[in-house]
Amino acid sequence: MPHPPAQKKGDGSKGEGKQPFQSVKGMADILPKDAQWWYMMIDAARTVSELHNFHFLETPVVEPAALFESGTGLSTDIVEKQMYVFKTKGGDRVALRPEGTPSVMRSYLEHHLGYYALPLKVFHYGPMFRYERPQAGRERQFHQWEFDILGDGDPIYDVEIILAAMDFLKALKIKNPLLKINTIGCRVCRPGYRERLKSYYQTRKEKLCEDCVRRLQTNPLRLLDCKEKRCEELKRNAPIVLDYLCQACNNHFRSVLELVEDNGIAYEPDPYLVRGLDYYNRTVFEVVTPSSPGSVAGGGRYDYLAEQLGGHMVPAVGIAMGLERVMEVLKKEGVVPPQVRNRPTVFFAAVGEQAKKASLRIMRELRANGIVVVEALGKRSLKAQLKAANRSKISLALLLGQQEVFEGSMMVRNMVTGAQETVVLSNLVEEVKKRLR
Ligand code: ATP
Ligand code: MG
Repeated sequence: MPHPPAQKKGDGSKGEGKQPFQSVKGMADILPKDAQWWYMMIDAARTVSELHNFHFLETPVVEPAALFESGTGLSTDIVEKQMYVFKTKGGDRVALRPEGTPSVMRSYLEHHLGYYALPLKVFHYGPMFRYERPQAGRERQFHQWEFDILGDGDPIYDVEIILAAMDFLKALKIKNPLLKINTIGCRVCRPGYRERLKSYYQTRKEKLCEDCVRRLQTNPLRLLDCKEKRCEELKRNAPIVLDYLCQACNNHFRSVLELVEDNGIAYEPDPYLVRGLDYYNRTVFEVVTPSSPGSVAGGGRYDYLAEQLGGHMVPAVGIAMGLERVMEVLKKEGVVPPQVRNRPTVFFAAVGEQAKKASLRIMRELRANGIVVVEALGKRSLKAQLKAANRSKISLALLLGQQEVFEGSMMVRNMVTGAQETVVLSNLVEEVKKRLR
């Protein structure tokens, strides 16, 4: 669909009176011109979900704020700085979901979904909300497609999740995705590493950014994720988790890496990868591509989340793909999306009141037979309607005038050659199909 040039936010000359409304900063409309990209991504995600047997799960956009405070974690940027929290008229403290995983686990516990399958594989799709500084690849409302496997701690499931995300990127023909992978241990071994890390940074406290000085007390692992230059420099000599893993975590991570290698996934162990959410344990990962400044996907194992939400222990693993970032990569890499319309399409024009009145019925018949019908029946003249036909680049037009209504026929015009013929209405569908073959 042709598209007028974008207007700058807050544009518009003075003296025009009141400005029309604009969308909230960092929250974009998804316009018809981007439809193909979205269809392409969603088709790929749905196909992969189906082939891997991930089941449909949708949860509300609004959840109790405490779900993310207990789940994602109070000391994470997402909850501490980026969450949209508000009180309802009834006095409930709720939040726009900043991420999907706590909702997925809430739903799993609430509906006893583990009863039906072991493990349960679900996909979860929709908008997420984070109050961050808007810039390229960073919106305040963005969309994630997430895969989760709940109910089993076996390393094979960590790799199944990674492979699902990789299959999605492959289906979209995204070039050179790289898996960055690490482990962050468990309840047994992480405290030891945490203490070691804390004492390393404690002696360098004066060089840390303000946030990290605070994180040192609340959540020392998060220091490794700080994007401030001075903190990143200090990270270079920080102790690494691999030296502190217990035997079980060591074996788990080794198995994950072996399976990743077996499956020919390009990967890079990153001993400082920790990720910004509190519930992760053991394997954590991100997927980056050369064409995206940030990660296109991120995830990990979250065996303790269910307990944090007041449930029993449910080992689980998941990954979320950021669709806006994936779309940017597709555009940068020059991937051509398939045409939205791969069905036969005609342009329908009618002149005169009677013809216009008869149009809806004929168009319905065509549509019932799988033919896409485009029209501009609000325009009176044939000329204006045909101009619209030309603009929409449709090669076959059907014209209905007073005489055709009377005769029970339609004029079929080839918009490329200009040749036209009269066709009896009862044969219309067949004749159209014949011409579009
Ligand atoms: P980053 O380090 O770039 O902030 P993140 O670790 O916060 O990413 P996750 O919470 O793991 O990201 O979300 C998974 C994916 O969602 C990311 O890999 C990215 O593609 C996408 N994503 C995260 N935040 C945003 C955002 N503000 N705008 C657009 N996409 C986002
Ligand atoms: Mg972030």
